Amino acid sequence: MSTSTARAGHNVGAEYDVEAVQRDFPILSRRVYDRPLVYLDNGASAQKPRVVIDGMRDMLEGEYANVHRGVHYLSQRATDRYEAVRGKVARFLNAESEEEIVFARGATEAINLVAASWGRRFLEAGDEVVLSVMEHHANIVPWQLLRAEKGIVLKVAPIDAEGNFLLDRFVDLLGPRTRLVSLAHVSNVLGSVLPVAEIVRVAHARGIPVLLDGCQGATHMPVDVRALGCDFYVFSGHKLYGPTGIGVLYGRAERLAAMPPYQGGGDMIASVSFEETTFKQPPHRFEAGTPAIVETVGLGAAIDYVQGIGLAAIERHERRLLAYAHERLAGIPGIQLVGQAREKSAICSFVVEGVHAHDVGTILDRAGVAVRVGHHCAEPLHSHLGLAATVRASFALYNCRADVDALANGLIAVKEMFG
Ligand SMILES: *Cc1c(COP(=O)(O)O)cnc(C)c1O
Repeated sequence: MSTSTARAGHNVGAEYDVEAVQRDFPILSRRVYDRPLVYLDNGASAQKPRVVIDGMRDMLEGEYANVHRGVHYLSQRATDRYEAVRGKVARFLNAESEEEIVFARGATEAINLVAASWGRRFLEAGDEVVLSVMEHHANIVPWQLLRAEKGIVLKVAPIDAEGNFLLDRFVDLLGPRTRLVSLAHVSNVLGSVLPVAEIVRVAHARGIPVLLDGCQGATHMPVDVRALGCDFYVFSGHKLYGPTGIGVLYGRAERLAAMPPYQGGGDMIASVSFEETTFKQPPHRFEAGTPAIVETVGLGAAIDYVQGIGLAAIERHERRLLAYAHERLAGIPGIQLVGQAREKSAICSFVVEGVHAHDVGTILDRAGVAVRVGHHCAEPLHSHLGLAATVRASFALYNCRADVDALANGLIAVKEMFG
């Protein structure tokens, strides 16, 4: 086993030791264009700590085999390690049991699973699904596919000019045909944190289940699905410092129990004959075929890692950085923040007056600063804002004030170049 899993506490006492955190991420010591890397594209994907990389390599080198099938030693070891992560994720989200945790390829697949299984079974023509204008395409397109198939109706909850979710206007959209509310926990463009507990409360008061897209939620703040009471919660491993190819669908036990399989194959069946096939109980019913074994183990290591630091400490650190970024950017003329909600998480999107976002991104890149430019898979939101593209700096647990300074200095250079 790797020795790098033994690490000193990063958060002993009141101080958040960001330099110690940075040392855990090998890639952060590399340079790009002969400059130190300043990685601010965490909203798209986060970098990986050594414990995740080593954990995956250790498994491949010493404990790899297919899961759930073999009587042999390695298969049982692999199965134990794979299934242990289910329990870890359940505790991470405070789910009632690990049977409520379904592994998927990512958040996108998890939402598609709900649309394809729950949606096909329970939604009919004229039934309504309520989204918000801030949604990522992953929480729009699966419902549009279902609309094309079934004739369901999509309703879109609005935001105000600052990016605050308008709870009253949302409540007005809930009607006798509303069958599901499916919303981001945190907007991946505006950083707005939705009042999810309140949303679940008002939806449940009307008997409407709630799906939360937690890609930008569970990565940046503690999440307790039981306290929230949501019916479904999804997130992607790769945004939580884990590998790609693994994501999570949390579904309340009674919801999952009522859902038919959506993909067929090995591992999800109880018995198969050409006449009749019976299916396993959730969550295995939804995991057809060989899963992402090593990636799941990597996700487990990532969860251990963030919990070692603590989501509450990470959230405090990132919010301080966000406040500093707002302050620095406000000091540069011609920068317009996009998204200034009262409750805001670690995302800072903006436009530079008179300069195309792609040019901003390219100039920042040459300074070693990695940001996202474009519509960030939220094209309807950008249309709503009347913007073709924005620049997005998104923070992670390893970012520091110097990263914000590098961003600000890069933007001052952009202004000079285009001034
Ligand atoms: C990244 C993201 C997704 C999609 O996640 P994948 O890992 O690409 O499946 C969905 N919703 C939000 C809010 C995101 O940020």
